[in-house]
Amino acid sequence: MSTRAADLITLGLRIRHFRAERGFTLDQLGEQVGMAGSQLSLIENGRRSPKLSTLQDIATAVDVELTDLLKNEAPNTRAALEIELERAQRNPLYGALGLPRVKMTKGMPMAALESLLGLHRELARRASEAIATPEEARRANTELRERMREQDNFMPDIEQLAEDRVRASGHVSGALTHREVSVMAEQLGFNLIYVNDLPGSTRSVTDLVNHRIYLPPASIPGGHGLRSMALQAMGHRLLGHERPGSYAEFLWQRLQINYFAAACLMPQAASVAFLSHAKRERELSVEDFRDAFGVTHEAAALRLTNLATSHLDMPLHFLRVTGDGALQKGYENDDLPLPADVTGSIEGQFVCKQWSARSAFTHTNRTTEFYQYTDTPAGTFWCATQTGATDAGEFSISVGVPFVQAKWFRGRETTQRAVSRCPDESCCRRPASEVSSRWAGKAWPSARLHAHVLSPLPSGTFPGVDDTEVYEFLEAHAAE
Ligand SMILES: [Zn+2]
Repeated sequence: MSTRAADLITLGLRIRHFRAERGFTLDQLGEQVGMAGSQLSLIENGRRSPKLSTLQDIATAVDVELTDLLKNEAPNTRAALEIELERAQRNPLYGALGLPRVKMTKGMPMAALESLLGLHRELARRASEAIATPEEARRANTELRERMREQDNFMPDIEQLAEDRVRASGHVSGALTHREVSVMAEQLGFNLIYVNDLPGSTRSVTDLVNHRIYLPPASIPGGHGLRSMALQAMGHRLLGHERPGSYAEFLWQRLQINYFAAACLMPQAASVAFLSHAKRERELSVEDFRDAFGVTHEAAALRLTNLATSHLDMPLHFLRVTGDGALQKGYENDDLPLPADVTGSIEGQFVCKQWSARSAFTHTNRTTEFYQYTDTPAGTFWCATQTGATDAGEFSISVGVPFVQAKWFRGRETTQRAVSRCPDESCCRRPASEVSSRWAGKAWPSARLHAHVLSPLPSGTFPGVDDTEVYEFLEAHAAE
């Protein structure tokens, strides 16, 4: 859509507005300026560019200054909607649908106008969201992880912002209460409103006109999730976010609001005091940190990655792995060799079967953390893993450190040890040769489609399928 065409639509509507105000029909005004009503109609519809002399005649006929006629703004609210709708209808995005253009008439109800416009806006929003290809998304994710690794996953500005807002809410210590979160919203001039009909694709919606933040129903009163979502919504406002122009920017904003929410729920000063004390006592544990601040295990583990290097002088890693061994989220600044594809992307890659993140699934007592020392080509790591389950299946959350740092953690005395040779494929990615020779070419697995948009496709003989697991499965069942 060129500016010129956009300007013509506005100009046309301004002419129509002043003509209607004077009570002229198209033909009546046409007569005064020496042109057919049908020609004037084309100008009013923004389909024809009028000569300057014609414009001067029109201005004189409707008794306004030429500059009034040429102002690049809608003459009234309705016209503004009409202009936006007309522009949307001329957009190739709409054209591609092969649907007719709706001609806007005076008789068209405002509700119809608003409804059409709402659909156009949603169409544009979805189109811009879908623009990120999986490749772009992966690249953006990888760049973001590398950027955060360089700053040890620590963002001092957001820490300060969170600290200030939390203090202003009257919060003193312990878990940030739901009430305190509400106060924070009020101090920002917003009300938190819980609704049952939030759009499925949103986590929260902020009404900037009526200053409301809509959140899903408070099914678990004051639950961590709700406080976090409310804080994330406030984060957008406090961090001055504008509509993201790219997928990378979208990810960056999301990371910032997640960081802000976590820094409010586990404020820097209180968290560092808690963790430093635990370190001195050699009792560091994600479990205790989680319970002290009333957050999820994952939130506490991630928060530890923000503070451990910057304040406890300790490199570390974090992994969220699904039941099938795929890495959903990962961070390391301790040189743990994370599995990655050729582009450096880690999301959806399978982590070594020997790692605590996976062996914890086979552990019988899952109520407490599982501890393990793992020898890798990059050295020995100590890890603590907590498993859990959602509707989407099992997952594990791991936090680990290089061997020399294990002494600060509870669980360092574990006798659980494993050896991982990954990325050497003979470690756990290649079936034992006799099993392989027995089943190669005689197995036909059907891949489960990964819900994860960033999951890689080909790996092994069948896309998305782990050969070893298939062969071992067949081996076990063939004997029955
Ligand atoms: Zn392995």
